[in-house]
Amino acid sequence: MNVLVTGGAGYIGSHTVVELLEAGHQVIIVDDLSNAKVEVIGRIERITGKRPAFHQLDCGHKAGLRSVFQGDRVDAVIHFAGFKAVGESVKKPLQYYRNNLDSTLTLLEVMEEFGCKKLVFSSSATVYGPDNAHPYKESMPAIRSTSPYGWTKVMIERILTDYVTAHPEFCAVLLRYFNPIGAHDSGLLGDDPNGIPNNLMPYIARVAAGQLEKLTIFGGDYPTPDGTCLRDYLHVEDLAVGHLKALEYAGTHSGVEAVNLGTGNGISVLGLVHAFEKANGMALPYEIGPRRDGDLPAFWADASKAKELLGWEAVHTVDDMCRSAWKFAQMASK
Ligand code: UDP
Repeated sequence: MNVLVTGGAGYIGSHTVVELLEAGHQVIIVDDLSNAKVEVIGRIERITGKRPAFHQLDCGHKAGLRSVFQGDRVDAVIHFAGFKAVGESVKKPLQYYRNNLDSTLTLLEVMEEFGCKKLVFSSSATVYGPDNAHPYKESMPAIRSTSPYGWTKVMIERILTDYVTAHPEFCAVLLRYFNPIGAHDSGLLGDDPNGIPNNLMPYIARVAAGQLEKLTIFGGDYPTPDGTCLRDYLHVEDLAVGHLKALEYAGTHSGVEAVNLGTGNGISVLGLVHAFEKANGMALPYEIGPRRDGDLPAFWADASKAKELLGWEAVHTVDDMCRSAWKFAQMASK
C-alpha cells in the first residue's frame, strides 16, 4: 500500500515508518518538524535501505496536503501529527484545540476529496479519563479526559466515529496507546524531546547521561504497593508493529474500532527506575517530590482486543525498553 504518515518524523511515527517500509509498503511522510528533526529521515533510510518520500508541511495546510495527494496515490493514512505535551496543553489550550482538530479535519476533507477511506489514528489511554476502573477496556466509556491535550483525543475519536456513521464504507482504527518508551534497536531512533523532557523515560535517560542532575519522582504517597504511580509501559517497537497490524485490518474492513495498545501490566515509577539501573548497570540519582497535577495513581490496559482483532501483542520486556532507551540517549547526547 501507499501509506501517508502524518507526523512520521516523530518518536512513534518514525518507528512505524520503519515497520511499514520493512513490510514492503511505500511511505509518504508529512511532518512540519515542529517537534522532530529532519535527520530522522536519513536514519530511517540507514535502517531500512529505503528512503521514504518526505514533505515538510503542517497537515492543517489544505493546499499543501492536496498537492501531496495529487502527487502520489494514497491508499491509507496513519495520523500521528499533533501537539502532545499534557502540561503545555493546560497553558495553551487554544493552540492545542486549533492544531490537533484543524489538522484532523483538514486531513479528512482531503482524504474524502481523493477517495481515501482507510485511517489509523494515534489516540491515547487518556480518553478513559479518571472515572473508569483499571484495567481499561475498550467497552468502557472513553468520553472524558484530564487535559486539553487529552480532550483533543476524545474529540477526534468522536469526529471519526461520526464520520464513519455518515460514511459506512470508511475504516477508522483508533489506537489507544498506553505509555510507549524505549527506542529502535539500532540506537538511531528514539524519544528526543526539545527542552526538558516531561515524560518519565526521556527524563531518566538525560539523568543517566549526566545532562540533568536527578529525577524527581512525582509523588510517593499514592495508594500503590510502593507509593509511586503505576503505568503500562510498552516498547515503541511493539507499538509500531501495532500500527502495521491496524493498517492491515483497515485494508480489509470498514467501520470504526478503538483498540488498546499496551502490555496489560502495570509498573511503578520506582519499579521502572530500578529496572533501568539494573538493565544498564548504573545508579540513578532520584528524589521523591510532590505529586504532579492531573496524574492518576494507576492505570493499565486490558490488551485482549488487540490480540483478538489485530493479532497483536507486546513482546518486548521492560529490560529491552530500558536498554534501548539508554543506547539511544548515548547516541543522542554525542
Ligand atoms: N513522572 C515522574 N517524574 C518525571 C516524569 C514523570 O515521576 O520527571 C511520573 C509521572 O508522575 C507518572 C509517570 O512518571 O506517574 C509517567 O509519566 P509520563 O509523563 O511519562 O506519562 P503519563 O502517564 O503522564 O502520560
